[in-house]
Amino acid sequence: MKAAVESQAALIELQRIDSAILAAQLKLKSLPEREQITAIHTRIAAGAIEIATAEAELADVAIDLRRSEVDVEQVANRMTKDENRLSSGTGTPKELEQLQHELVTLAKRKAELEDTELEIMMRHDAAKEKVAIFKSDEEGLKKLELELNVRLENAAADCAREIQLQQSARTLVIPKIEEPLLALYEKVRAAEYGVGAALLIGNKCDGCHLVINAIELERIKSLATDEVLRCEDCRRILVRI
Ligand SMILES: [Zn+2]
Repeated sequence: MKAAVESQAALIELQRIDSAILAAQLKLKSLPEREQITAIHTRIAAGAIEIATAEAELADVAIDLRRSEVDVEQVANRMTKDENRLSSGTGTPKELEQLQHELVTLAKRKAELEDTELEIMMRHDAAKEKVAIFKSDEEGLKKLELELNVRLENAAADCAREIQLQQSARTLVIPKIEEPLLALYEKVRAAEYGVGAALLIGNKCDGCHLVINAIELERIKSLATDEVLRCEDCRRILVRI
């Protein structure tokens, strides 16, 4: 196949553009923010379970605390009642003595119940603290998720812009390439991972980076500049500079 030197030079330019498009498409697909956002979602989901568990625990302790408060109130009410009766002085001396005894027992009971109440209050505070920590973690993760979404949108927009730019450049280069050479390029490019044409740099093919043997190199040198070459190793179109 023969193609004008200008046509071959334009083909190398087209290859550069196609490589840039491929790189931008690859970058778009593998933006690290996508993976980071997925990881954040997993953490938020796990955190939601932790929050639900901690809130259920807090609700249980709140019931225990209310129950304990009622216990203390009941004993306190009974003590007030007994103290009133005692101070009124009504009743037989035996009854008054019994009341005094009861008051001592009730005071002891009240002190025990207050100890229990204090212990439950501490558990209640700890449960509340736990819920607050989990919620603050969740808030932080959601904030990070928002930031990552913005970063992802910006990075994706940059890639899309780059692709559009290169595609416009592509439409300008295409008419400079002779039809059969372009058809061959597209065929090789599809088979060779997006690279259809490469420069001959020194004695190496810039597509597969292999050295071209001396005999082949001599043969290439003897060929007219409009002769279309192929690399013997990777079969890509080899363009001389
Ligand atoms: Zn090659």
